Amino acid sequence: MRGVTILGSTGSVGVNTLDVIARHRDELRAVALTAHSNDACLFEQCREHQPEFAVLIDPVAAARLRERIRVAGLKTQVLDGAAALEEAARLPATHTVMAAIVGAAGLLPTLAAAQSGKRLLLANKEALVMAGDLLIESVRASGAQLIPIDSEHNAIFQCLGNPAVAGSRPQGLRRIILTASGGPFLNTPAEKLARVTPAEACAHPNWVMGRKISVDSATLMNKGLELIEACWLFGVAPDDVEIVVHPQSVVHSMVEYVDGSVLAQLGNPDMRTPIAHALAWPERRESGVESLDVVRLARITFEAPDLERFPCLGLAQRAARDGGTAPVLLNAANEVAVQAFLECRLNFTAIAVVIEGVLNRVASEPVRSLTTVLDADATARRAAVEAIARLDGVVSDPVAGACA
Ligand code: NDP
Ligand code: MG
Repeated sequence: MRGVTILGSTGSVGVNTLDVIARHRDELRAVALTAHSNDACLFEQCREHQPEFAVLIDPVAAARLRERIRVAGLKTQVLDGAAALEEAARLPATHTVMAAIVGAAGLLPTLAAAQSGKRLLLANKEALVMAGDLLIESVRASGAQLIPIDSEHNAIFQCLGNPAVAGSRPQGLRRIILTASGGPFLNTPAEKLARVTPAEACAHPNWVMGRKISVDSATLMNKGLELIEACWLFGVAPDDVEIVVHPQSVVHSMVEYVDGSVLAQLGNPDMRTPIAHALAWPERRESGVESLDVVRLARITFEAPDLERFPCLGLAQRAARDGGTAPVLLNAANEVAVQAFLECRLNFTAIAVVIEGVLNRVASEPVRSLTTVLDADATARRAAVEAIARLDGVVSDPVAGACA
């Protein structure tokens, strides 16, 4: 029996993880479930999975959960606050940690899982973008197993066969071909992009995901973050990764070897495939995902990304090449800008303007420690807030009623 801690159990990846666990109750059990403030969903999860611990960041929501758990007669102990996330990641009864918190908030508990030698299933790409060096170093030092959950990176991991040490370039690898769906605005003309609404941006054609990553997919920043993620995971340089738009989202990514062989991993776009793969690795288990109907699929296509309509991808490539804290600045500015867009305080095309402004104003520094990372994150967030304030009434033109 393997114990699992899910950081971010109430989110899209978290819910899919519990779905897979429920199919294998003889082998897997939830030891700790965590969320930010969604006590209603976390209560239902506690009732079904009876974990030993439930953690909420918000103390008021945690008090509500504690009361409902008491009334229901469950044994789950409810903790609150950010430090409890790290405790949940380090629990002796936990074999596997699913890191599925969205954004920089996931960094410290993800690092805690890496430091304590767990099997770390990494969905929280922002943690790797911010602190790739520190995270890979912790994995190596503790003997943790790092298995990517992001569908592209999980595909690459599978295509690499015998995975080498985390962060080391596999022998014989020529390049990685990272596929992108292109998002909901793949064919939207440039002049219409400024007026798209959060609801339109979150309506992804192939995947159902949280709101932040949905917007990142719409701007192509998601692919930029994934480029940086791939560099850390597989020890490659940004120029070793080609990004191609593949609107069907069936080929999850490819690797090319020096002999010219290209290997791809295919499957229906359903996160339960990478989740089940990583939970069972190196074995295979049923995930609940439908078989891929290749005849119905009939056609798969690839095209180059349009960096003019989607400048966020170019900004991420620039940060990837610059290295140091540049990816931290990029990630923090993006989180602030996306939140402003979701709250209708910023229009869609201004997301890239804010990020570029931050990259131009704040210098990248070598990453010496976690403090360097956290300081750069805080500085970039302040710079992004200021940039949004400066843009007010210029390119910030919220779509009326879009957030109603
Ligand atoms: P969601 O927004 O659906 O879920 C986020 C989860 O994190 C929720 O459980 C939420 O709790 C919790 N959370 C949010 N903020 C905090 C915080 N400050 N501190 C602690 N917990 C917090 O996100 P997704 O599941 O879509 O994505 C999670 C991660 O996985 C992201 O990094 C994303 O990039 C990555 N990913 C997601 C994919 C997908 O298909 N969804 C695919 C590939 C990668 P609450 O519900 O209480 O707010
Ligand atoms: Mg992905």
